[in-house]
Amino acid sequence: MFALCPDDVGVILTYRCHGSCAHCVYNCGPRWKKESMSPEMLRQALEATSIWPQRPQVHLTGGEPFLHFDLLLEGTRIAAELGITVYLETSASWWADEEKGVAYFRALKEAGLQAVLISCSPFHAERIPAIRTIRAACAAIDVFGAHRTIIYQSQFLDVMRQFDVERPTPLSRYEEAFGAEVAHRILWQGFGVISGGRSGYALGHLAPKRPAEAFARENCAGTLLYARHSHFDLYGNYLPGFCGGLTVGDWRELGQVLDDFQAERYPPLIEVLIERGPYGLMKLAREDHGYVPCEEGYTGKCHLCVDVRRHLVETGDFTELQPRGFYENF
Ligand code: SF4
Ligand code: SF4
Repeated sequence: MFALCPDDVGVILTYRCHGSCAHCVYNCGPRWKKESMSPEMLRQALEATSIWPQRPQVHLTGGEPFLHFDLLLEGTRIAAELGITVYLETSASWWADEEKGVAYFRALKEAGLQAVLISCSPFHAERIPAIRTIRAACAAIDVFGAHRTIIYQSQFLDVMRQFDVERPTPLSRYEEAFGAEVAHRILWQGFGVISGGRSGYALGHLAPKRPAEAFARENCAGTLLYARHSHFDLYGNYLPGFCGGLTVGDWRELGQVLDDFQAERYPPLIEVLIERGPYGLMKLAREDHGYVPCEEGYTGKCHLCVDVRRHLVETGDFTELQPRGFYENF
């Protein structure tokens, strides 16, 4: 199996969105700089995917890609022109005007968009009234068809409907309604929260914590070398798997990155994570950079990894720890 050979590449047009969701592994939100990928860079990102013999499908994403609708439309056109299977991912936070929303979907379909993924979870619903998710999903089904509309994760629609869908629902309402234990199970296990990004901090109370030593036997070779799902962002970062804030290299030099990985030449922190996982990273940080492990422990291996990286970004100079905005938006 070849290293770095994804079958789905997400192109992050911006890290900004209305959400700031507690489970977000990329730490997206409204406090990021108002920056988006340029149309030229977007074309470059889409063209770059031709390097793989089996071209991956692409999803245009964020943050919230509808914050830059013209760019989203242009990216869809370019992808269609290049023969790339393309879909988009949205939180539907922008869905206030039905007519405008339907017009957007129709324009995207005409430009060649093949499917829409609408994010749906109690974490999104903390800031985005569920009615927007529901209306956007219904419109997407009308325009694209049910088989080209993915509601991720649709099992939460019924749960979310138990609250006032016209308003955001704080997560604390789940505890009030179902009791702490059931609420924690619905939210953490039910969603399958990844403990990276801000989730280990913002949702740490939902999951048991374990000491760093509990993760000593886990490495990240599978994710860092063979992730099927990866991202190119607007700053040039190639982010493997769901590892927000961690880049294996610059996708604008993708040929070189792939050659290096084939030859097993890795950036230093990536090498540590491949061979020794986040526990190895923690030991390096403790021995060389004064990291002190959290007494209360970590909700998962990615929580440990992120916590150590937050320390390393302050105490060292590691090009792998990008984008910097990730570390400024917990
Ligand atoms: S999960 Fe989506 S909507 Fe929520 S903060 Fe991340 S990008 Fe924004
Ligand atoms: S521990 Fe770190 S490198 Fe490994 S999968 Fe999680 S975020 Fe990625």
